[in-house]
Amino acid sequence: MSGSSYLLERAWVDGAVRDDVLVEIEDGRFTSVTPDGQNWTLSAEVSPVNVQFPRPTGETARVPGLTLPGLANCHSHAFHRALRGRTQRERGTFWSWRDQMYAVAARLDPDSYFALARATYREMVAAGITTVGEFHYLHHQPDGTPYDDPNAMGHALVAAAAEAGIRIALLDTCYLSSGFGKFPEGVQVRYSDGNAARWAKRVEQIDHEHVGAAIHSVRAVPRDEIPTVVAAAQGRPLHVHLSEQLAENDACVATYGVTPTQLLHDAGALGPLTTAVHATHLTGADIFHLGSTRTRACFCPTTERDLGDGIGPSRALHHAGSPLTLGSDSHAVIDLFEEMRATELDERLATQQRGHWTAAELLGAATAHDSLGFDAAGAIAVGRRADLVTLDTTSPTTAGTGADENTAVFAATAADVTHVVVDGRVAFTQADRQDIGRELAAAIERVQG
Ligand SMILES: [Zn+2]
Repeated sequence: MSGSSYLLERAWVDGAVRDDVLVEIEDGRFTSVTPDGQNWTLSAEVSPVNVQFPRPTGETARVPGLTLPGLANCHSHAFHRALRGRTQRERGTFWSWRDQMYAVAARLDPDSYFALARATYREMVAAGITTVGEFHYLHHQPDGTPYDDPNAMGHALVAAAAEAGIRIALLDTCYLSSGFGKFPEGVQVRYSDGNAARWAKRVEQIDHEHVGAAIHSVRAVPRDEIPTVVAAAQGRPLHVHLSEQLAENDACVATYGVTPTQLLHDAGALGPLTTAVHATHLTGADIFHLGSTRTRACFCPTTERDLGDGIGPSRALHHAGSPLTLGSDSHAVIDLFEEMRATELDERLATQQRGHWTAAELLGAATAHDSLGFDAAGAIAVGRRADLVTLDTTSPTTAGTGADENTAVFAATAADVTHVVVDGRVAFTQADRQDIGRELAAAIERVQG
């Protein structure tokens, strides 16, 4: 890839917003990052609408607005995007949401899954997301028989991400039971490999550089099977839905006599490569176990609010030692600016006090790619992956808000993103917006009818 360079009007560098930052990029990495350059010779002024990246070697384009590192969406189920705006009809309960989610899951095949995922990932890129962690459990044909390529569905996701221009960590999910001691039924037979050893064998055959593992939940993977998943995940990201709803906690205690967190701890599943997704209903001992093992906590506040899950103890987990990450999960909304903001605002509602998280801390959570195995992303710094996400600081939403990290966290929405560079390549400009909308509409119509 040829080199390129940009002069960023304002950019988040080394934990602060700096003016006139010149960045140079070679082979998808930053080779120089120089703030406060007043007199750079420019060959082009970039307008947010017609910008064409990357520019040929030797040209420097000026990028107006506030530029951030790429955002990491650490928890996604791509196909849930087909449910947005539909499961809320007639008020909607958790169970009506689940019925509709299962109906879409039953209809997907590798082709329609690819189309829906590509459109969804393009929406993510348009929202400034440069890495997605796909928690993938839709493995087999509707009757549970493996496809000729047993990873046809996972490979469809990897191909969709490549075409959308987003990095993907495929978190292949082990799902063996529909509840404590219950066999999968209905569409759930598509999720199950029968046992963890067969799951691990299939995962070994995935043709992708960035494969992690997931335990769907403590209700979907029996206690005796968890160590097999942990062993297969060795050295790679391991994600798990944890204590999203109180009913899961109650059933776990009734079955095993311990909380889901304690169960995972005892099975050796916690640690710095593990991410606990949701972590909503926790005891003090649970928070201690997660924090002391440096297990990450991935909060998905817009989904948790859509499903009525509750508000997790994000700050207590942080104090205990669990780094925070963020995800859009069910894609009720794809907007990590909103997820950042909601993390703080939910704490305010839960505690009736303001000021738990700073904007800088929340920006750190939204740009943490390491829980997905992409340690080199998430900062505008020499040697790091060259991701650039630029916000319009003059929009009706953002104008007059200071054009700093507080603009990003407490004012901006995904619609304020003007252009996105992933690994040095342009992945989104505003000219793409209508086309992404059309692609989403077509992909969703195909599975919703
Ligand atoms: Zn989820």
